[in-house]
Amino acid sequence: MILDCAIIGGGPAGLTAGLYTTRGGLQNVVMFEKGMPGGQITQSSEIENYPGVTGEISGMDLMIPWPAQCQKFGLKHEMVEVKRVSKDGDIFKIHKEDGTTAEAYSVIVCTGSSPRRAGFAGEDELFGRGVSTCATCDGFFYKGKEVAVIGGGDTALEEALYLAKICSKVYLIHRRDSFRSAPNTVERIKRTQNIELVLNSTPQEVYGDAMGVTGLLVKNTDGETRDIKALGVFVFVGNDINNQTLIQENGSFLCEMNKAGEVVVDINMKTSVKGLFAAGDMRLNAPKQVVCAAGDGAVAALGAISYVDELLNH
Ligand code: FAD
Ligand code: NAP
Repeated sequence: MILDCAIIGGGPAGLTAGLYTTRGGLQNVVMFEKGMPGGQITQSSEIENYPGVTGEISGMDLMIPWPAQCQKFGLKHEMVEVKRVSKDGDIFKIHKEDGTTAEAYSVIVCTGSSPRRAGFAGEDELFGRGVSTCATCDGFFYKGKEVAVIGGGDTALEEALYLAKICSKVYLIHRRDSFRSAPNTVERIKRTQNIELVLNSTPQEVYGDAMGVTGLLVKNTDGETRDIKALGVFVFVGNDINNQTLIQENGSFLCEMNKAGEVVVDINMKTSVKGLFAAGDMRLNAPKQVVCAAGDGAVAALGAISYVDELLNH
């Protein structure tokens, strides 16, 4: 049986694509998700910027109803890692980790992104409890408090400026004394009174208690250690796009990608390959927010419905 649509990844983008494709009339839609559906937001202890959802709610609690809502309209979930998506004529092939292959007329790839970790002690243990990779999401929890930002690229500096408007003080910790970031952003950082530059320094250990982070030890290139009493530690050391399923046997990508490894899409989430759509954090210039990923998933699904209708009925 050839699926009308295969959805790769079951985060906010994939689940919304599943809701819209099935409710919009596509038959035999399968969402291939390697773990529990929900995506990376399930790692967040609190989300307060999803419209209409008020009160304290964890990322996990936000996502729990999404799969059941999709299944009501016929979405099937297969818990398996997809290794590769390829295309042969009009048919896509979904190569799964277990060695089997599924076939589909359309594919929506929604495998998201993974913020890189810096690799210091305590970072993984306290992730989601004071260590964060999202200032838009978690900055407000540190209103009036001191935080640390790790990194020296555009993301770290822009997020440090964002946090400086909310927090009493931001320690910007960078392993060198010059930044990768745009020069005007560096100037704005230097003009911001409540940002202290901690240069030539790398985090050694973040520590905390049952409530979360209470401080960070950093070491500079002279070997001196400093104890920074920050309650939030924001790590911005780059982001990996989960684009591995698009890599073909010859090493090239199935569709056009940009230099950052993001999938190039148009405003309708169409990629350069007919019938292949991308949505959420993995598409170019993604705002990396749940609401945006969900919106992308809906747009991609509407595109897939039209594409399959055109392919099979005209
Ligand atoms: P993801 O959520 O990354 O989902 C991708 C899914 O694809 C995952 O479930 C993964 O298991 C699956 N997958 C990947 N590769 C494969 C494969 N090969 N085969 C099968 N399945 C695969 N956003 C907000 O709007 N507000 C917040 O408060 C907020 N807080 C955050 C806090 C944290 C700690 C983090 C990490 C992120 C936060 N975000 C927040 C960002 C938000 O989580 C992402 O923008 C959003 O989840 C992106 O959705 P997505 O569906 O594109 O991808
Ligand atoms: P990035 O440019 O790769 O910068 C990552 C930073 O983290 C670097 O300063 C790096 O230090 C540091 N770093 C890496 N690993 C580390 C580790 N283990 N410990 C401590 N520090 C570590 O990543 P990004 O800032 O996320 O930007 C990604 C891309 O998006 C870039 O092309 C950027 O220009 C672009 N971007 C653009 C804008 C904009 O145009 N406004 C905004 C955001 C992002 P080193 O410098 O020493 O390597």
